[in-house]
Amino acid sequence: MNIHEYQAKALLRDYGAPVASGVPITSLDEAESAIGALPGPVWVVKSQIHAGGRGKGKFKELPEDAKGGVRVSFSAEEAMANIKEMFGNTLVTKQTGPAGKQVNRLYIESGAAIDRELYLSLLVNRETGMTSFVASTEGGMDIETVAEETPELIHTVDIVPSAGCTDADATKLADALKLSGSAKEQAVDLFKNLYKAFVEKDMSLLEINPLIVTESNDMQVLDAKVSFDNNALFRHPDVQELRDLTEEDEKEIQASKFDLSYIALDGEIGCMVNGAGLAMATMDIIKLYGAEPANFLDVGGGATTEKVTEAFKIITADDNVKGILVNIFGGIMRCDVIAEGVVEAVKQVGLPVPLVVRLEGTKVEDGKKIINESGLNVIAADDLDDAAQKIVKAVKG
Ligand code: ADP
Ligand code: MG
Repeated sequence: MNIHEYQAKALLRDYGAPVASGVPITSLDEAESAIGALPGPVWVVKSQIHAGGRGKGKFKELPEDAKGGVRVSFSAEEAMANIKEMFGNTLVTKQTGPAGKQVNRLYIESGAAIDRELYLSLLVNRETGMTSFVASTEGGMDIETVAEETPELIHTVDIVPSAGCTDADATKLADALKLSGSAKEQAVDLFKNLYKAFVEKDMSLLEINPLIVTESNDMQVLDAKVSFDNNALFRHPDVQELRDLTEEDEKEIQASKFDLSYIALDGEIGCMVNGAGLAMATMDIIKLYGAEPANFLDVGGGATTEKVTEAFKIITADDNVKGILVNIFGGIMRCDVIAEGVVEAVKQVGLPVPLVVRLEGTKVEDGKKIINESGLNVIAADDLDDAAQKIVKAVKG
């Protein structure tokens, strides 16, 4: 689960992190009091969407040369003009995809006097099995480009879980970031607090880009992106409250209600599969035969007919879907349950596109019988290869 920048900053502030004062607004009515609540002389108006690259983003409704989704404003009037120009419009950034995201929340923040912009993140390092800090003096810009072109400027410090972030770890990071004096002292505290927040709140990613050194040599968190581990959300009701459903894919919200592992993608072939590995293989083979998957969907091991029905409905509700491939290797999952779910879903919502079904494993004969006797217009397939070729042919001709 992701949250907005202003929410992440409030959370980090509770852990003692230095963040600028700011006021989030969700309507234009709140603009004047938000601007008035901050001292100036510089206000920054920041689009709140679940995507990065806002500063360099473009609003669809505005002329090409209009400013982006983060605007430094040098008077209250300028801040107000920026708020009015940005609010409700659609921001397209490197991370939103071409459709962009509507900006329904703005964060009005005090402007910082920036001396240097740094990069800092905390993530779960699967290679070492530890939480790692990643730091670079090259903050503010695209960290992927830094990693590609000048990997020597990226520093990684693994944190041993039993010890936590020690003074030595934090100092190593501060040195890598070339901090000194007051900034270094503050940074050591900050890094330890960030680590604490990361672990206590079960984050999966905490990215601060930029972390800045101000002209007075103080540290400040200027941007913050936080993702939480969904599997641990149940123990953080305070975090659950921060969820903004308007930022999430409607189909993914629906899927999560039924405990389905579903990710929406851009292709044309809807997939219903059991097991994450088989789901990945299915997506690969669809690509191999020249089409693109419209989603990743793992119905899981012990799915009920109801769950399968919901899964199928979510797939058919996607306008991009031009064909469906059901690929089941029944182990714990029974083919007859899948077949019943598919038949039930088609009864409820119809079958607007070609459907290829490949069933194998537990109760396969029962499953095939249910499909055959249902009168559904199904293209049967023998194996994964055959199934993928048939659905691609049905869609692409
Ligand atoms: P994004 O990463 O989505 O583009 P950021 O919050 O990182 O958004 O803002 C982009 C840039 O805008 C920053 O790198 C920084 O230079 C500037 N900026 C952001 N917030 C402030 C602020 N409060 N004061 C001064 N400059 C800011
Ligand atoms: Mg940023």
